[in-house]
Amino acid sequence: MAATGRTRVDVGGIVQGVGFRPFVYRLASRHRLGGWVRNTGHGVEIEVEGTDAARTAFCRALTEEAPPLAVISSVQTRELAPEGEEGFRILASESQASGAVVAEIPPDCDVCDDCLVELFDPANRRYHYPFINCTNCGPRFSIITGVPYDRPATTMAPFAMCPECLREYHDPADRRFHAQPNACPVCGPRLRLLSPDGAELEGDPVARAAAALRAGAVVAVKGTGGFHLAVDAGSAPAVAELRRRKKRDEKPFALMAPDLEAVRSFAHCSDAEGRLLSGVERPIVLLRKREGAPVSPLVAPGNGWFGVMLPSTPLQHLLLRCGPIPLVMTSGNVSDEPIIHRDAVALRRLTGIADLYLTHDREIHTRSDDSILRFMHGEPLLLRRSRGYVPRVLPLPAPQPSVLALGAELKGAVCLTRGKDAVLSQHLGDLKNPAALAGLEEAVAHLRRLLEVAPTLVAHDLHPDYLSSRLAQDMDLPKLAVQHHHAHLAACMADNRLDGETIGVIFDGTGYGPDGTVWGGEFLVGGYAGYTRAGHLSRVGMPGGDAAVREPYRMALSWLYRIHGAALFDRPHPLVDLVAPQQQSLFLAMLEKGINTPQTSSCGRLFDAVAALIGLRTSVHYEGQAAMELEALAEAGRSFAPYPYRIDGDPCFEVDFLPCLAAIDDDLAQGRSRADIARTFHRTVAEAVRASCGRIAAATGLTRVVLSGGVFQNRLLTEEVSELLQEGGLEVFRHRFVPPNDGGIALGQAAIAGYRAGVNGR
Ligand code: ZN
Ligand code: ZN
Ligand code: FE
Repeated sequence: MAATGRTRVDVGGIVQGVGFRPFVYRLASRHRLGGWVRNTGHGVEIEVEGTDAARTAFCRALTEEAPPLAVISSVQTRELAPEGEEGFRILASESQASGAVVAEIPPDCDVCDDCLVELFDPANRRYHYPFINCTNCGPRFSIITGVPYDRPATTMAPFAMCPECLREYHDPADRRFHAQPNACPVCGPRLRLLSPDGAELEGDPVARAAAALRAGAVVAVKGTGGFHLAVDAGSAPAVAELRRRKKRDEKPFALMAPDLEAVRSFAHCSDAEGRLLSGVERPIVLLRKREGAPVSPLVAPGNGWFGVMLPSTPLQHLLLRCGPIPLVMTSGNVSDEPIIHRDAVALRRLTGIADLYLTHDREIHTRSDDSILRFMHGEPLLLRRSRGYVPRVLPLPAPQPSVLALGAELKGAVCLTRGKDAVLSQHLGDLKNPAALAGLEEAVAHLRRLLEVAPTLVAHDLHPDYLSSRLAQDMDLPKLAVQHHHAHLAACMADNRLDGETIGVIFDGTGYGPDGTVWGGEFLVGGYAGYTRAGHLSRVGMPGGDAAVREPYRMALSWLYRIHGAALFDRPHPLVDLVAPQQQSLFLAMLEKGINTPQTSSCGRLFDAVAALIGLRTSVHYEGQAAMELEALAEAGRSFAPYPYRIDGDPCFEVDFLPCLAAIDDDLAQGRSRADIARTFHRTVAEAVRASCGRIAAATGLTRVVLSGGVFQNRLLTEEVSELLQEGGLEVFRHRFVPPNDGGIALGQAAIAGYRAGVNGR
């Protein structure tokens, strides 16, 4: 018999809130080790017991295969006397100071390997049972209705456990010891297949749904946080039909495949991307398309990337065993409303969209969309933080009075703090309609209930007309309006646990400026205490206001007006023809007199203008589409010497891209490659950022730069900016745990408000 022993492992670094304990559990199970893992005040403590070879392999894999968001700074091991422990357990956190157990609300977790083996074992009593779970996996946040986290405070409350399930639940040696959602075919939830009129169909629901998918049907499938709409991704007619029914013209659909091997048949997937895909959070990861992949081009038109995920629920595993591969799995919602999570609502709102409903009687209490990430410079970046990540705690730089932050408008999310912990809600969609506002209020109430704190202050965006700002006005709490880009800066600082002052490069689409103009290309200096605007992109008109967001050609004409003045419509240009001759004088008057033409320094609008100018996209179907396509085009191009631009003004400087836009227009006239132009434009913006930050660094002595705002979802730009700043001796911080877009903004508002509340409370 091989030598056995017990090893104590202390892991330091960023190892909490990154899915480390479930990862350790799976690693220990794989190596057949007994023992336990728990969070401490310093990091993660592990004890493993088993053969020498297994313990050695475990310790090696601990760092080599760690979750992508973890940063391990130290691993210390010590040999202990064996205790004969066989099973592996995740223990509750022990607070070092008091010895008290910290109340934690776990995120939803994909089905673990042990449960998967049972799911497909014909001899197991849970063979093909779609609600199989254990202490180490299964639904959590989505089914929790209150605290403490116990079965009565979940949507499993109506299901009484059978004697066999109860025995597991009460047996400390069982993998299902205190597994709150524990269930089996005898006592637990039941799967159903419904027709659009709500009638239950006969036969095996999974087999029938799979057959319908193979025949081109649209099937609504209840997932962890809400309904997905599934179709066969390989069938162009099926995907086209889904687009027609959903009235979604171009926005990419996510794909689901059973395993990494299947993923690699249609997308490029590195080891790191593979680890992220297979992590317990099961997010959507953006992967580069493989040429000639057997996936309909209608899945993600005009885009070099697929959003891909692996199955996270037993039901999805079952469906992918017999359905077409890959499946389109897109959120079951109407336009930008929150994902639908209740059966009755799904039957009503998805009328005319879904042909069948694969659903069940375990209710989803809290909805959440799929999370989305992409890799930049080999590091994962969250584009949407939701299922699997929420409600993991985000540690703030310092303890602060409890505050509530309501975010902005697009990509809504709220943040509640307790001591040093910030909890950011799931993605709530665009807060532009009553349904979304109701979702926001619900999320606030639920977080307050779960964290058991009463905030002392509510923070909101400076924009008075956002629904989130209005909700703040209705609350019986002191209020703090936070400027949008200041919140972005603070979000990126808090995300990196920075204190003091930094340089902030904040590039996004829109934010309310205190001077009444639309900001969005900002160079700020500051921290949680306050900020100054050190510089910004030069302002241009947005002819037609919001119409200029939907129709980027308006932004391009605005720049051409700056170049050519009133002669704008006298010159032959493809864009000029987009404005009907009888409308041209009106358009010109708008620009000349500023009628319905707000001024903006937005970097998002600059990218829109360039995309339209080179004829890539003159109107968009969704926010950020033009910029995304410009990035995709630039990836195929070569970078030449940057275009000219100007930096003027003191103390607040302006970065003017007028010479750049004029040069691009000339290049187009000379027939230069649009891909090369797009690439060189990216390079030019990066150069301008380097010059601007160099200027600020020289004046202030600051050397740390944070990058935030939706424009930094652009991989090409973010990588070039990071490289140039680092070459210039500056330290660059990007987002880690929250998105650079407005989905992360509530964290920044909370950090600023908490700082303010702390100062006032002293
Ligand atoms: Zn499990
Ligand atoms: Zn049972
Ligand atoms: Fe923003």
